[in-house]
Amino acid sequence: MKRGVCIHGHFYQPPRADPHTGRIAPEPSAAPHPNWNARITDECYRPNAHAAGPGGVSVSNYSSISFDFGPTLLEWLERDARDVYAAVLAADAESVARLGHGNAVAQSMHHAILPLCSPRDRETEIKWGLDDFEYRFGRPAEGIWLPETAADVATLESVAAAGVRFTILAPRQARAVRESGGAWREVDETSLDTSVAYAVRLPSGASIAAFFYDGAIAQSIAFNGALRDGDALGRALAERAVAGSAGSLVHVATDGESYGHHHRFGDIALAYALAAVRATPDVELTNYAAWLAAAPPVHEVQLREPSSWSCAHGVERWRSDCGCAVGATAPGAQAWRTPLRTALDWLRDRVAGFYQEEAGRLVLDPWDVRDGYHGARLRGDAAIGELIRGYQRWALSADEVERMRELLRMQRYALMMFTSCGWFFDAPDDIATIQNLKAAQMAAELFEELSGQPARAELLRRLAGVDTAASVVAAE
Ligand SMILES: [Zn+2]
Repeated sequence: MKRGVCIHGHFYQPPRADPHTGRIAPEPSAAPHPNWNARITDECYRPNAHAAGPGGVSVSNYSSISFDFGPTLLEWLERDARDVYAAVLAADAESVARLGHGNAVAQSMHHAILPLCSPRDRETEIKWGLDDFEYRFGRPAEGIWLPETAADVATLESVAAAGVRFTILAPRQARAVRESGGAWREVDETSLDTSVAYAVRLPSGASIAAFFYDGAIAQSIAFNGALRDGDALGRALAERAVAGSAGSLVHVATDGESYGHHHRFGDIALAYALAAVRATPDVELTNYAAWLAAAPPVHEVQLREPSSWSCAHGVERWRSDCGCAVGATAPGAQAWRTPLRTALDWLRDRVAGFYQEEAGRLVLDPWDVRDGYHGARLRGDAAIGELIRGYQRWALSADEVERMRELLRMQRYALMMFTSCGWFFDAPDDIATIQNLKAAQMAAELFEELSGQPARAELLRRLAGVDTAASVVAAE
């Protein structure tokens, strides 16, 4: 059996449109571009669709790497950068033709930290992400990227139940491994063998494969200048594959934005790296789904949980002052993360209780209807109406259908407000945090309109400590 090399890029941008206007307000920090989506498209997403490889030959890097694109980014590309959107879809189709399995991997809908979601929200985030993938790529997803690779057993149960076969995790998320039937052996990120896939056997009896990427190479790409010499990076990956045993896979996952946005000319470096791997005898460029089909896991793994790739403290970065930050910050400087999380959790529960009661009056299973909402939304207004009528308790009037639409819209914002970026940065004045607050404001506003009960004043009271909240959430 051959040796394989797989480079995975996680491409993602949060929702940026203002909920009231549906448009992205100018983002001056992205100048000279109107907003960050436009800027990063110019620096990264478009260049990777036709990067200048060796000999000046233009290639689509997407055809030769494994990748996931967030649904909120694909929605924007579809409308505002159609050439890039088409190139991403074409690259997946081409990889299916070549390898029998596609390069594209799904992502859950709003980049919420799944272990911190309510069980119901977790299911919906996954369902919407998988529906989005199938609608765009024209095939069901085989794998899923978990936002921030944040995982726990409940999250893996949810994705396995949805029919997903694999995910990609950071090496420090593995706690113990064994060959099937053998004795468990404790591992850490330095002792874990990342060249094989592992099976995670779940309490339900289900199982899902996990690929743990090579942490040292990922680090060198993201932070230590490996993209200054793409050819050398490609040769290093290939040499590591050649040095491994037959059937081993050298693979690495980083933010896709490394290739051109975080690192200028990273797209060209990636093209050179891929060419160097391709030129190495007995090493093949592959993707995870193709590799998994050819070599099902014979090793098992137990996870450290909850865990993620950008917080050493589990998933604390998205709910407490754990010390993880982008820049230097003083102790206590991220205390705002806790009230942001608990206030939005409170709003979610308030909205969910009302939704269950009011939507449950109109339709048979309101949570099934919510699960189907994104797939219907993609197909247009009429499809949403059909979805609602498919579950109606009686022949609903036009007004009642409209009310149900508004209840679903409320739920959409109540999910969107948990986008992980809102907690990631160092202060709550970041545009990502403001965006979450705008979604929360919208969910609360719809709740008040539809229920006649107050929410925003209490939300604002609970957001004390998040000093930007008052500028976004109007008390009435
Ligand atoms: Zn942390």
